[in-house]
Amino acid sequence: MAMIKSPAVLLLAMVVVVVGELQRFDHAVKSDGSVRFLVVGDWGRRGLYNQSHVAYQMGKVGEKMDVDFIISTGDNFYDSGLVDVDDPAFYESFTNVYTAPSLQKQWYSVLGNHDYRGNALAQLSPVLTQRDNKWLCLRSYMLHAGNTEFFFVDTTPFQDKYFTETEHNYDWRGVLPRANYIANLLKDVDIALKASSAKWKIVIGHHTIFSAGDHGNTQELVNQLLPILKANDVNLYINGHDHCLQRISSPDSKLQFLTSGGGSKAWRGNTNPWNRNEMKFYYDGQGFMAGEITHDKINLAFYDIFGNILHKWSESDQYVYSGSSSL
Ligand SMILES: [Zn+2]
Repeated sequence: MAMIKSPAVLLLAMVVVVVGELQRFDHAVKSDGSVRFLVVGDWGRRGLYNQSHVAYQMGKVGEKMDVDFIISTGDNFYDSGLVDVDDPAFYESFTNVYTAPSLQKQWYSVLGNHDYRGNALAQLSPVLTQRDNKWLCLRSYMLHAGNTEFFFVDTTPFQDKYFTETEHNYDWRGVLPRANYIANLLKDVDIALKASSAKWKIVIGHHTIFSAGDHGNTQELVNQLLPILKANDVNLYINGHDHCLQRISSPDSKLQFLTSGGGSKAWRGNTNPWNRNEMKFYYDGQGFMAGEITHDKINLAFYDIFGNILHKWSESDQYVYSGSSSL
């Protein structure tokens, strides 16, 4: 067990342990054991494409909920990640955009495919955390918060086309040889999930598993990651990548597929047909997701850039939830 060596006040509160090969962070929860958070993805555009409007509403909802932390589902900096740790985009697209007091909490981020088009190591560098202590981005890791564990998975290396297309360059430092990287990552996630005694298990990745949006399903994850999630009773898979807000239920398990990729540019307008029994909510526009987990319930809500709740969903370990929540 070792403390993170960082002057950051926020990080000093967290203790890091290693489960398998995944680093685990602990985040203190509220006195009643509940945890509240926001989820935003696909956002870094220097405030443009309504990124600032989404950030403003996140600040308002974050204050009302008294959120504990924020999750980023990746594609943090467009179009091509960060050049290096001195790239001004870090301030222009992150620090200077998410300025609300309620958002000055720990951010837990993963990398998206656009982040890999730049210097991927820059976003992983502790130098950025020193410059803005709410920033934390690692490839794959765990977060323990009360009765919930979040498992962050680096999904970009799974997608075959990034290794064959010539249109873009990707920063694969630390990923090659790819087959080993993926095999080890899947093994680590499986070990960590099996070792978890958390009531609620939530997996975060940038890429979709199932989606009716522009990118659609990620078949590599359907084939390789989904069986592990099902085998380990994961409650939620949360992703970005498709620039929309979405909830798809499973026909054969409790697993819910949630997309929160509306942090800036959206409105692509092309939606693929989907089984109506499984497609519970789809919004091809900008916004974010809010989550509250209590001792026996998950409550989720999707918000648009005007602060309207577009969709709510709850799951209880005992009964179908129908009461009020802070969302
Ligand atoms: Zn993406």
